[in-house]
Amino acid sequence: MSDPSERVARLFEFYVQNVWPVHRKLVKRRLSRRCRSCAASEKMLALDSAGVCVSCRSFVEAAPAQRRSERDAEALSQSLGRYQGAGTGLYDALVLFSGGKDSTYMIHRLRTEFPRLRMLAFTIHNGFMSPVAERNVQELIERLDIDHVFVRPRKAFHVKLFRYCITHLNADGGYGTVDFSDGEFMLDTARRLAAEKDIPLILCGYSRYQVQNGLRLDDFESPRERECSDRVETAGLPLKDIFAPDEVELWWHGARWPRGRVARLFFPLFAWDLEEEEVKKKVAEWGLLPKKAHSPIATNHKLIPLLGVTDVHQRGYSGFEIEFCRMIREGKADYRQWLFTFEFLEYTARTGLFVKSVVIDLLAQLGLRTEDVGIRFNE
Ligand SMILES: [Zn+2]
Repeated sequence: MSDPSERVARLFEFYVQNVWPVHRKLVKRRLSRRCRSCAASEKMLALDSAGVCVSCRSFVEAAPAQRRSERDAEALSQSLGRYQGAGTGLYDALVLFSGGKDSTYMIHRLRTEFPRLRMLAFTIHNGFMSPVAERNVQELIERLDIDHVFVRPRKAFHVKLFRYCITHLNADGGYGTVDFSDGEFMLDTARRLAAEKDIPLILCGYSRYQVQNGLRLDDFESPRERECSDRVETAGLPLKDIFAPDEVELWWHGARWPRGRVARLFFPLFAWDLEEEEVKKKVAEWGLLPKKAHSPIATNHKLIPLLGVTDVHQRGYSGFEIEFCRMIREGKADYRQWLFTFEFLEYTARTGLFVKSVVIDLLAQLGLRTEDVGIRFNE
């Protein structure tokens, strides 16, 4: 309970819900203007005179998307049905488990709908996972009653990755560079594990948005060619610029494996295409995770506050906001909750309130100082 980043995350959430609704009125002039319908910052999207952003102006309810997700869900269901008992080894599917609501939902639903699918859950420790998140993983795995492997690469590997990424941010900021690379390494480790254990399928709980905008895919399955090729870069950064040759070996080299040993990679939540509220409601109903606010700063990844603060200093808003503004626009996330979260992140990133010491400590763990990532707290 004494981990400083957990304390900060809890303070942040408490403040956003209970104090910020009043505090914001006093500092409104120092905050960016935000879209009245999706909460996007004026620094992300241009606002018109009515205070509405260009994306909301041109947004039309997508009726065909509904039919499409029904088709995708049906195709996914048929494929998963065929994989029950199809593995030559002990398992049919390696299932990525982060301890968050999405992967918890995925495992429970798969278990219910495909009772004969032999699943092995997989979690990676990236060296910056909070102790609370670790405990959550352990408790949920027991509740889900599923076989599980926890992979812990040496911490120096992730320190090297994150340090390089945060000092070489691409156009998508901390989210699109550091968090994205973290996810890519997690997927690569799953690919390697599946090949080694001869598991024919990998299931990952990324949302439709994460698949489309993060992985730039428009399908619930990753293309075969991608799975069968060697990785040479992450987030646009060549691996050989970041790592020594033995560390590059830890990434996925699909071309070295016989094609029959390369697992297919599915994203079930892409096909199911659910609203955030629906997922939260279900995991609460199933008695797996309590229904509470999930702020982007209080996730299982300790670096999230650092990424948010760095983004605010470099571009005026955090890269995490893009995904949530889209969900608000599509009616899949709550406007008021996220508006207050984004506003307070902007305020706290500049003043350092609550986050300053944590940000400085996280940077120190990466061997960096505030000036290395363009952060200047106002005193
Ligand atoms: Zn908008």
